[in-house]
Amino acid sequence: MREYLLQNPMFAMAVEQFDQVADFLDLDENLRNRCKWPKRWISVTIPIRRDDGSTEVFFGHRVQHHLTRGPVKGGLRYHPSVNLGEVAALAMWMNWKCALMDLPFGGGKGGITCDPTTMSPGELERLTRRFTMEMIPFIGPKVDVMAPDMGTNEQVMAWMTDTYATHTGHMEPSIVTGKPLNLMGSCGRTRATGHGVAFLASNALHRIGGSVDGSTAVVQGFGNVGSHAAQTLCSYGIKVTGISDVGGAIWNDNGIDYFKLSKHVKKTGSVIGYSESEEIDPDTLLTQPCDILAPCALDRVITEKNAADLKCRILAEGANGPTTPEADKILSERDDITIIPDVLCNAGGVTVSYFEWVQNIQRYRWTEREVITRLETILEETQKKVDDYATRNKLTSRQAAQAIAIHTVAGVKSSRGLFP
Ligand code: NAP
Repeated sequence: MREYLLQNPMFAMAVEQFDQVADFLDLDENLRNRCKWPKRWISVTIPIRRDDGSTEVFFGHRVQHHLTRGPVKGGLRYHPSVNLGEVAALAMWMNWKCALMDLPFGGGKGGITCDPTTMSPGELERLTRRFTMEMIPFIGPKVDVMAPDMGTNEQVMAWMTDTYATHTGHMEPSIVTGKPLNLMGSCGRTRATGHGVAFLASNALHRIGGSVDGSTAVVQGFGNVGSHAAQTLCSYGIKVTGISDVGGAIWNDNGIDYFKLSKHVKKTGSVIGYSESEEIDPDTLLTQPCDILAPCALDRVITEKNAADLKCRILAEGANGPTTPEADKILSERDDITIIPDVLCNAGGVTVSYFEWVQNIQRYRWTEREVITRLETILEETQKKVDDYATRNKLTSRQAAQAIAIHTVAGVKSSRGLFP
């Protein structure tokens, strides 16, 4: 029954990864089950009035994996593919991510099954406010703190903040992170995830003896994560030769100018049609030769079908769950690719979300320089910790990152004991 409730290929993938690591850690069977299953999952219906006067009912979910180490932290996703199992997988990965980064949070994730690209701002606002109201018994700065993810942004976080403030009667900025600056959002939060992806990828390149000069990168996705990853890679002098979005993929051997492309996307809504590029088949984008490949859009895009054909030196997983376990197996047998696993690679977002929560509680503001410097310090230390653990224990970097995290969570559960 419990497997059925969360049945989904992504959740199966998260469980398979967990089981492998739990075997390595020789985790006690009782503790293993407590670590694996989410504490609670909440599903709600969200009826809203559409602009044409009709009423439509949407489905929303929130999964809180554990509150063992603190409030749960994780994004809210608006996408047609959202379902409970997907959200549960993402919540589990968030749990490991927070533990790996040593943030005082558990993992959570939420989502609403909808296509935000077909909804008006008014409809999105009503959807967000109604969902927030339905969630009020289950959230709070000490219980569950949401943030943007696919299809959501600062504006959605602002509506959530306002709905919560209206309900409680006071402004409580620490209820969500990724807010606009004038609602006590943090400097650097918007670019944190993508910047972290690029920072870790260039570190890894140095570590394998590569040089930034003349190196190239391919980025899948030009949303929050992909665009900021591309921006930082360009600022390092790395040529971003290929970029894609839902509309297709573009290529330029000499590198794509981030600022010119951003202007084009702002005007047209897509990377397609950018004059200083040619269109290429999006299916072949991931297998183009490059130093850094950064999938920053969807899950399960690197599969057993294309893993053997990747021609990158660094695989920087900006998206959550971009590599399937079958592809992982193929990649682990290749010694020419260094993987920066998602739980580490895209952890810049939750780390700066933690900074935002701390600033909100203190009613204090850090400068962007402080935020980015602290972020880079934590990312660099954690990358080294993962690399050392992987080498010492002959594990892949994904297994090492998850082993550090699961060991941490299991240790805290053990210390707290089991109630009653
Ligand atoms: P986003 O702002 O909504 O951007 C998603 C991007 O993916 C868009 O550019 C979208 O294209 C593109 N895309 C969608 N389908 C695609 C396809 N079939 N092929 C190529 N590109 C496609 O979302 P995001 O916040 O960047 O999140 C992306 C990933 O990063 C997700 O896995 C998310 O969980 C993960 N992540 C995000 C954060 C964060 O702070 N935002 C933190 C950690 C992890 P269009 O623009 O054309 O729609």
